[in-house]
Amino acid sequence: MLSSARRLCSFAALTLVAAQLAAAPLQKVMLLTGQSSKYHDWTKSAPLMKSYLEKTGLFNVDTVTTPPTGADMAGFAPKFSGYAAVVVVYEGAEWPAATKAEFVDYMKGGGGLVVIHDTDNAFPYWPEWNEMIGVGGWGMKADGSIGARDANWGPKIRWRDGKMVVDATTPGNASHPTRHDFPVVTRDPDHPIMRGLPAEWMHPNDEIYSHLRGPAKNVTVLATALADKAKSPTASGEHEPMLMTITYGAGRVFHTTLGHVGPKDIPPFRPLNCVGFIVTLQRGTEWVATGKVTQAIPADFPTADTVSARN
Ligand SMILES: [Zn+2]
Repeated sequence: MLSSARRLCSFAALTLVAAQLAAAPLQKVMLLTGQSSKYHDWTKSAPLMKSYLEKTGLFNVDTVTTPPTGADMAGFAPKFSGYAAVVVVYEGAEWPAATKAEFVDYMKGGGGLVVIHDTDNAFPYWPEWNEMIGVGGWGMKADGSIGARDANWGPKIRWRDGKMVVDATTPGNASHPTRHDFPVVTRDPDHPIMRGLPAEWMHPNDEIYSHLRGPAKNVTVLATALADKAKSPTASGEHEPMLMTITYGAGRVFHTTLGHVGPKDIPPFRPLNCVGFIVTLQRGTEWVATGKVTQAIPADFPTADTVSARN
């Protein structure tokens, strides 16, 4: 028969083991950033992404920065293996071929990628990247001008009559209406990233990326926004994809087209402070990292009528 002291010790040991089992290890996330075009500013957006991810208590975020614009990229060779997800805030020079090849291997082998806003403008001439992101915008041409992604890059993705449509016929390449507040509409309420979110929620002062083009393969549209001609005469008039997932090999991709921050913007950055942006980023990152979402929907999530910000 155990003495009461020894019984207490055994109980304490069991409690400790249970606590260790309950506290899952943090997922390792790489935040890869370091260059933007003249229209965006990673120095403003990337630190916010890191803080949003760490606030979940689920992720340990390492920031990896490329050489600055114009500098030699030859030595840029981060080790992707070992990371549950790579969150990319980047619109800049090509990575070395070996680094691209390692990233493709990482993704095909079951890696996780999160693509945020202008990140889908990067690497127009990297075919595997175009497959990973599904569709992308603009992109720098060889002569340095903007607008590489045209009809040769593939169709657009639209939401029509209650389903995703691949549109290879309408003209026009990447554009966006003037920034304004708009509703984001949930299109796949059963996806783990979207489960429990409202059917519609207001998102502030952002660019509705429109006419994005690409291979558009293995894409699931999670949420859309109407690029409304009533708000902007040059708008596409289509329900454009705002949140998407893409399957690439055994890898998972979460692509949010939301999140504009320009070099002249001063805080608060309303598109990034939006609770809808923050929560979908947090949930999307968990999903690419683990295939599941364990986070509860916060009480301050925006509604169909009202934006909600964390400053
Ligand atoms: Zn933008």
